[in-house]
Amino acid sequence: MRFSFANLVRQSFSGHQGWPEQWRDPEPKAAYDAVIIGAGGHGLATAYYMAAEHGLRNIAVVDKGWLGGGNTGRNTTIIRSNYLWEESEALYDHALDLWQDLSQVLNYNVMYSPRGCMMLAHNIHDVQVFKRHVHANRLAGIDNEWLTPEEAKEFCPILNTSERVRYPILGATLQRRGGVARHDAVAWGYARAASALGVDILQRCEVKGITRDASGAVSGLDTTRGPIATRRVGVVAAGNTSVVMGMAGVRLPLESYPLQALVSEPVKPMMPCVVMSNTIHAYMSQSDKGELVIGAGTDSYISYSQTGGLHIATHTLDAICELFPAVRRLRMLRSWGGIVDVTPDRSPIIGKTPVPGLFVNCGWGTGGFKATPGSGHVFAHQVATGEPHPINAPFTLDRFRTGRLIDEAAAAAVAH
Ligand SMILES: Cc1cc2nc3c(=O)[nH]c(=O)nc-3n(C[C@H](O)[C@H](O)[C@H](O)COP(=O)(O)OP(=O)(O)OC[C@H]3O[C@@H](n4cnc5c(N)ncnc54)[C@H](O)[C@@H]3O)c2cc1C
Repeated sequence: MRFSFANLVRQSFSGHQGWPEQWRDPEPKAAYDAVIIGAGGHGLATAYYMAAEHGLRNIAVVDKGWLGGGNTGRNTTIIRSNYLWEESEALYDHALDLWQDLSQVLNYNVMYSPRGCMMLAHNIHDVQVFKRHVHANRLAGIDNEWLTPEEAKEFCPILNTSERVRYPILGATLQRRGGVARHDAVAWGYARAASALGVDILQRCEVKGITRDASGAVSGLDTTRGPIATRRVGVVAAGNTSVVMGMAGVRLPLESYPLQALVSEPVKPMMPCVVMSNTIHAYMSQSDKGELVIGAGTDSYISYSQTGGLHIATHTLDAICELFPAVRRLRMLRSWGGIVDVTPDRSPIIGKTPVPGLFVNCGWGTGGFKATPGSGHVFAHQVATGEPHPINAPFTLDRFRTGRLIDEAAAAAVAH
């Protein structure tokens, strides 16, 4: 049943008891044409576009937990596309284009809010790097502009632009189309739309093994809900990618780190945009509930622990309190961690693997939420046709052998 004004009125007569379940909860079939491992935003978007644009209906998405319970449900929802290199610009801007009418396409309010994403420069190196970004983005037709400290303060009045601080603000970039979306709604919207097209979403279905035939090609999956035969598998397992790919004997150039975030008690609207400081590694926006959503940096060591360390949050809050003195007396309500998979050049891997029939979409590190629609869209093309979409063609695994890296780490220092 579509969400519409007429249906809303109709359902109100029965106290809204007549709405059907948002997605089906089917039993696994013995075989599928393709299976996506990971029901995060990226995996669900992949399945949705495979069904909607490539006509594949006998497909499944499997998840060891519940849909959207991985990094999709843990991130700070920053959306922007002002990356440095042409390959990244094309990928993230493709996603930004898809965000514009995603709620209408999915018939689900994903609460995309282009309220502007500002990145602060605190030293001369930041100024030079960010101005380079602005010029590169504008040459590629991507909106990004340079603000003086006064202009930054005008855009975000609670910003402390005093010069007598540890992290003085020397300027900022602003991407006005950047912003936030509701992370859960993105997973739910794609799940509902995919399920309506016939995609089976199998929750509490952990993949324990990837089976291969005599030629070495993928032949199926061993899962906690039984074996599933399939010739095509797309792995979109974020922080668990190395573990899942290890089941097929494939080693990837990935390291997994805990990344933390926290939210304050809810307050009246005070933060009109997203502000990021890469140098301090702190960023903040305000959710529609009123909570200030604050992100920290990764731990400095690899781990699969989703708890993180207090010293990281403390360092971030030190910086946040200096940048936004108005928040100093707020209480923090919750903090959590997620495991992010990081590549050496801080760009994702989207494409084929050495195992025929096995495709991977990973390495989004600390910044993949913003790419969700674009990532799903191009990866659907990759899995459905076997060949890369032109936008994901440069993001091969092979680049770590050939040296044709897409180095957003050196360019941006952080890839949120
Ligand atoms: C604290 C934090 C803040 C972040 N902030 C931002 C931000 O502001 N902006 C931004 O763009 N990005 C941000 N990110 C990154 C972003 O969250 C991720 O890049 C993105 O959500 C990855 O989506 P996904 O669908 O690939 O992964 P996930 O949502 O993690 O989905 C992967 C799924 O795979 C499943 N899975 C794993 N192993 C198995 C198995 N063996 N069998 C079956 N299923 C399995 C997991 O259960 C999980 O549901 C942040 C991340 C964190 C942790």
